[in-house]
Amino acid sequence: TDLLTLRPTWMEVDLEAIQTNALKVMKHAGAKNLIAVVKANAYGHDVKAVSQALWQIGVRRFAVATIFEGITLREYLPQDDARIIMLGVQPAEHADLMVNYRLEPAVGTTEWLDQAAQVIGAGRPPLRIQLAVDTGMGRMGANSEEAVSQMYQRILADEHFELGGVFTHFATADDHNQAYYDGQRERFTTWVEKAGIPRRYWHMANSGSALWHPEQIDTETIRVGSVLYGFNPGAPELKSPVELQPAAGLYSRLGSVHELKAGESVSYGATYTAKEDQWVGTLPIGYADGYIRRLGGMKVLINGRVEHVIGRITMDQIIVSLSQPEEVGTKVTLLGRDGDQEIKIEDLAEHAGTIPHELLTEFSSRLPRIIK
Ligand code: PLP
Repeated sequence: TDLLTLRPTWMEVDLEAIQTNALKVMKHAGAKNLIAVVKANAYGHDVKAVSQALWQIGVRRFAVATIFEGITLREYLPQDDARIIMLGVQPAEHADLMVNYRLEPAVGTTEWLDQAAQVIGAGRPPLRIQLAVDTGMGRMGANSEEAVSQMYQRILADEHFELGGVFTHFATADDHNQAYYDGQRERFTTWVEKAGIPRRYWHMANSGSALWHPEQIDTETIRVGSVLYGFNPGAPELKSPVELQPAAGLYSRLGSVHELKAGESVSYGATYTAKEDQWVGTLPIGYADGYIRRLGGMKVLINGRVEHVIGRITMDQIIVSLSQPEEVGTKVTLLGRDGDQEIKIEDLAEHAGTIPHELLTEFSSRLPRIIK
């Protein structure tokens, strides 16, 4: 990180915002426990800082996507009671690593358990299994009453395994499709109840459920990512009932300032041409940092004023309009607050035709994360 700060372009991560968001959302949802979804480097925010900050406020379960992320996180959270869940399908051939690092894989088939049991062998501590139930997401998991029951019985009967949890994932919690949501919720509760799995193991609510369906949360535990980082996963269609504090900021400093004469153009393709003489500046950030090309034309904030990205975004630099000449080195806000102006990740996502999750996880390792 130190060498990365030699270039004046950086992300800031506000850990207090993340802690506040976690507590607010738990309260709103009436949840006692929270599984913090910190996969993909905590949605781009720095998994070490984020998970340790959440640990401090009492979070004890964390979710990642891969074995690599799990092993990395175990280094940051070595405590006996820090639990690490892996949400995606993992190769069963690495079940011994999961035992060593106490990682809890999501599993939806008995074949997976057969293979893992062989790899683990005798005399090892049991591998905790997160029983995945597919109620409509179509990615992974036991997808019938019988399949759930069979999985549960198999885990109970095999000394290689222990139940860590049982979960499902909602496809439409953050949009208007209430009927689909209700269907998923009903299938989960029916199947898991019939299988006889005690409620303390259940978790299903993602950010969308926690925000917009709090009265329908049937478990003590919510499993959320987006809201922790302070963005609204249902924007722009749905308003958040909880005031969330954005955790990420993105800043840079003017590298060069110069005047374009009327008729002169900037950047590849010469797509932008000055109509009259105008000041412009460059910033040392580009699509290789995750400031993707579709952010062309987006606004930035300079000394509390709104300016715009002009011309095409290049790999390492962008050009911005300046309504007055500014000093080289002036701070520019690409995401965050400046005076009474604010640019949110939801705004960037809408402009680029994508979702906040995608932009945040594409902010590259070239950007130092400055932890506040
Ligand atoms: N649970 C699972 C299985 C997920 O895959 C994800 C994220 O994609 C989450 C929970 C967290 O979702 P959100 O960021 O909407 O809270």
